[in-house]
Amino acid sequence: LELTEFVTANDLANMMDVPVTDVISTCMSLGVMVAINQRLDAETINIVAEEYGFKTKFVSADVIEAIAEEEDDPNDLVPRPPIVTVMGHVDHGKTSLLDNIRNTNVIAGEAGGITQHIGAYNVQLNDGRKITFLDTPGHEAFTAMRARGAQVTDVAIIIIAADDDIMPQTVEAINHAKAAGVPIVFAINKIDKPEANPNKIKERLAEMNYLVEEWGGKYQSQDISAKKGIGVQELMEKVLLEADLLELKANPNRNAKGSVIESSLDKGRGYIATVLVQNGTLKQGDIVLAGTYYGRIKAMFNERNQRIEKAGPSEPALILGLNGAPQAGDIFYVMENEQEARAIASRREQLQREQSIRTQKLLSLDDIGRRIAIGNFKQLNIIVKGDVDGSVEALSDSLIRLSTDEIQINVIHKAVGQISESDVTLAAASDAVIIGFQVRPSMAARKEAEKEGVEIRLYSIIYDAIEDVKSAMEGMLSPDI
Ligand code: GDP
Repeated sequence: LELTEFVTANDLANMMDVPVTDVISTCMSLGVMVAINQRLDAETINIVAEEYGFKTKFVSADVIEAIAEEEDDPNDLVPRPPIVTVMGHVDHGKTSLLDNIRNTNVIAGEAGGITQHIGAYNVQLNDGRKITFLDTPGHEAFTAMRARGAQVTDVAIIIIAADDDIMPQTVEAINHAKAAGVPIVFAINKIDKPEANPNKIKERLAEMNYLVEEWGGKYQSQDISAKKGIGVQELMEKVLLEADLLELKANPNRNAKGSVIESSLDKGRGYIATVLVQNGTLKQGDIVLAGTYYGRIKAMFNERNQRIEKAGPSEPALILGLNGAPQAGDIFYVMENEQEARAIASRREQLQREQSIRTQKLLSLDDIGRRIAIGNFKQLNIIVKGDVDGSVEALSDSLIRLSTDEIQINVIHKAVGQISESDVTLAAASDAVIIGFQVRPSMAARKEAEKEGVEIRLYSIIYDAIEDVKSAMEGMLSPDI
């Protein structure tokens, strides 16, 4: 069955040619109560379809409703600049580094620096090579975008102050980058300070199994002073080296597709959005669909506040003409005509309304058993938070050891402390379950988890947590669930 994410019990029954009452009772046996015209989540659809011997293939609603996205002919692909995000603990120098890069690398032949923050900017190095920076630092923003579907970053710079230490947010940033599968380059900052000790930072990284290249490991790192500009060009070189391995390519000769970086309502100009083109070329006059909004591009600007006519792969542009402010991380498409764009935008809006009243469930430990039973689940991602380091480590180790040939248990993030909003966002973006040991979620985290359908399980006995995960895995493994 080829399906979109938006299928009702009735649709599914019709597709499989079985009575809708059967579908509903199958759902009930899974503990999901549904009405005939209620939309089913992907998990449920998978399980029900499998029950009737169907294989499911999810095609994104965007593709079906809007964009017949063609594969690019490899011959049409040309190299594109890498897109880079800087992440790290607060005060370790993210902003200073981004400012330094912005002010130092003015594109040759262009007068004036970058005059406005539009959420992303493009720099050209002396050798002519380009890098695009996302100017919305922080792993929270990075993962929030990822949770919405946008995979925007090619390389992550993790910045660490050499007069400080690896801090909790440093660990978070590393784990967020890792969960996204984005290569990491370490920038060890503030080396101009007399008390700076870059070696201590490298030692700490080694203890965490991030051995830097100069010590024989595989992680590139660069000592820098963001304030004085020391080592920044070398850092850029290393980023480009990392990017080269990815062989990033795009086809500039097609309709643009990309991600929304930020958007707002501007008093004089109406709705403005910064978008990053990821494939194709975006042109003035194009009809753009982004999330639940659409519009014809009336004008485009670059980060120097200059009017531009078009933006190619990895280039950011501020666009005017949308009929609303899409969310950061929304994917945008260029559409052939306005009617189509309007139709899809309004359909999405309707779906969004329906979805917010339906209780959606991303993934819970109970679901895992069912999903493993049908063989479409091979990895279980877990975030572990606990009250003390010893128990976090003990619990994580025990959970990882539960891995079998069939199911890999990944602890994608572990830390001491309350379960935070950022933990929930990471879980949502990575299909993870959060396990708390002797800690509780913050109010904001609890709300976010409810909204995103992320399961948080709280324990006061390590053994109980391990047993629950184990029995969920076994449940999945038993053939007759
Ligand atoms: P962010 O919170 O990570 O964005 O950090 P900022 O870039 O705002 O930097 C925090 C503080 O550290 C500011 O007072 C900066 O001036 C200072 N700082 C950043 N980089 C350096 C550096 O390389 N050397 C020195 N001495 N100070 C720095």
